[in-house]
Amino acid sequence: MLLEASYGMPEQVAIVGAGPAGLAVAACLKRRGVPAIVLESGGQVGAVWHQHYDRLHLHTAKGGSSLPGLDFPSDYPRFPSREQFIAYLEGYARHFGIQPAFGEQVTRIAPNAAGWHVTTSRRELPARHVVIATGYTRLPLEPRWPGLERFRGPVLHSSRYRNGASYQGKRVLIVGLGNSGGEIAIDLHEHGAQPTIAVRSPVNVIPRELLGLPILAVAALFRAFPPRVADVLAAPALALAIGDITRLGLRRRPYGPLEQVKRDGRVPLIDVGTLALVREGKAKIAPGVERFTETSAVFEGGATEPFDAVVLAGMLAVLVGLVVGAIVGIASIFLNMPMIMLVVLSSIAGAVAVTGGLMLVFGSLNTADFTRGDFVDKVNNNWFWYLLLLVLIVIGIFGQMRQRIVMNRSIRDYWYAEAAS
Ligand SMILES: Cc1cc2nc3c(=O)[nH]c(=O)nc-3n(C[C@H](O)[C@H](O)[C@H](O)COP(=O)(O)OP(=O)(O)OC[C@H]3O[C@@H](n4cnc5c(N)ncnc54)[C@H](O)[C@@H]3O)c2cc1C
Repeated sequence: MLLEASYGMPEQVAIVGAGPAGLAVAACLKRRGVPAIVLESGGQVGAVWHQHYDRLHLHTAKGGSSLPGLDFPSDYPRFPSREQFIAYLEGYARHFGIQPAFGEQVTRIAPNAAGWHVTTSRRELPARHVVIATGYTRLPLEPRWPGLERFRGPVLHSSRYRNGASYQGKRVLIVGLGNSGGEIAIDLHEHGAQPTIAVRSPVNVIPRELLGLPILAVAALFRAFPPRVADVLAAPALALAIGDITRLGLRRRPYGPLEQVKRDGRVPLIDVGTLALVREGKAKIAPGVERFTETSAVFEGGATEPFDAVVLAGMLAVLVGLVVGAIVGIASIFLNMPMIMLVVLSSIAGAVAVTGGLMLVFGSLNTADFTRGDFVDKVNNNWFWYLLLLVLIVIGIFGQMRQRIVMNRSIRDYWYAEAAS
């Protein structure tokens, strides 16, 4: 069945995925009067968020995590819960009248003379442009260790972890200290389990808030500097907030968190309380896992410890997604498809951080947080911090203005070119 037949008008754009990025693109196109259809393999918007663990809260503050055109409800906390984020996504779709075609997995996208030919699990449809917003942390990567198949206890990937109810009193090994692993350790502790986190590589840890400011707002302030310089500038404040992580058995990366994002394409660990648990002895840090026996994990260096269950955390197919995104983005340059290029890039950015990404794309710095009383309290009348923050705020605002001008120009040029073609 053709798209015209099912929707009464020829759609220009097919958006694959009704997650935050797909919905944001659909809303932006709708506001500009561009017809679009959203194709979603799942049964609801934000399908991936329905599967995340119960305790999950946004690590990024709501002020910068909203999608374009609709803020979070004012009664939401600064870091909304998973349920609140899902409710927000559903409200966002309603607000903009976006009605995704659910249960339609896109299986093939092929170029043709008029644009693209899209094949879904249900039909074939033409589209002038295709937006791929399928997420980059959706597919679990399940690495294997020698002996894991013989381990007698349950072994599950963090994408299948819901809560720690069935782990009460158990010794649980979490492999990997990513943002999921860190929070799952807290959840296990709260459910009466004894979590140990195996950490193979050096890490960067940042707090969720610094001096009362959400960490992404702080990062935005430093954006005018090259990442290495920004890392040096931020280091004293981060050291004060996080403390010495080497005392906890962790190794520090040789470069800072902003350089990490640039160099490795990975966000650092945003600490929501894991380090405090380790300091209090309620969670343990162990070296990387070398192999498993039927009852234990053998760590690098030879130490062996018994466990009742294993959670493989923080290993999502980030690289696969980024590589696919990059290939499509580069291909779009050669195929002269600016819309796809723009949107794939914005989708990747949106996936890296709903907030950070959309701030990059739409240049919307949230100023509400700067007026908060708790921020002023925490600065503690220290003139040095006031001065430093003032300078950073000015630089940040200039950076945002420049970003906004550049983006507006490229969006305007694109639509002019489209209208002329
Ligand atoms: C545990 C966790 C916590 C996170 N917390 C934060 C946070 O606090 N702040 C932040 O900024 N970011 C966070 N992120 C990162 C990121 O912002 C989210 O993963 C976000 O959901 C990405 O949005 P997206 O729309 O790009 O992709 P997704 O939310 O993954 O949506 C992709 C959609 O595409 C659909 N789809 C996929 N393939 C097809 C296909 N072939 N055909 C049709 N539909 C398809 C999927 O069903 C899905 O609905 C987190 C990620 C994880 C995993």
